Amino acid sequence: MGWIDICIKKTISAVIAFSFISAIGNNAFDLYAQVCPQEAYQWPIDSAYVQKQLNGVFMEYRKGSTASADHFHDGIDIQATKGTSVLPCSNDMTVIGVTYDSAGTASNRYPDHSLYLQELDAPYRIFFYTHLEAIYVQLGETVSMSVELAQTNKLNHVHFNQGANTTEVNPLYSFVETRLCPFVDNGLPSKSHSIRRSPKPLRLPV
Ligand SMILES: [Zn+2]
Repeated sequence: MGWIDICIKKTISAVIAFSFISAIGNNAFDLYAQVCPQEAYQWPIDSAYVQKQLNGVFMEYRKGSTASADHFHDGIDIQATKGTSVLPCSNDMTVIGVTYDSAGTASNRYPDHSLYLQELDAPYRIFFYTHLEAIYVQLGETVSMSVELAQTNKLNHVHFNQGANTTEVNPLYSFVETRLCPFVDNGLPSKSHSIRRSPKPLRLPV
């Protein structure tokens, strides 16, 4: 095999490999690949201006357990493996609350800490983070967006609220200029959710 033949084969292989990677990108990785406008709040985990996978959404119904009553979920749950860095969603925020708690059974307790942040120039904007393993900031500290506030715990998500004490709003859709980059669902609906045509013509009441 000559040198030119080898070059042609390598080029063809590279084109095939690139096409394969592109195909994967279209189907899998693009689901969370939206890059957000800089005027939006940054997502509270790294990388901040790319939307994240959500495990829970605002106001979904949650069945209670022995430890909690039935309730509506007051924030969003963002997928984050244990040890993920948690960030402020904006600059010039003050740490106004830190709680050190634990969760789990008596034989399997784990840290489950929480943080409250407040915007300096808009004090009514309060943000709550929970399911944290470790907290690296102090009560009263003012933080910028690049500061690592904390790391997530074994629950593998951060619960994030905009607002507090029954004034929570949906952080994805709260204010046009001050929200997280909206979540875009690029997944196709499954076939089981398609609407089937009725076998008989529908008769409307008169
Ligand atoms: Zn939650």
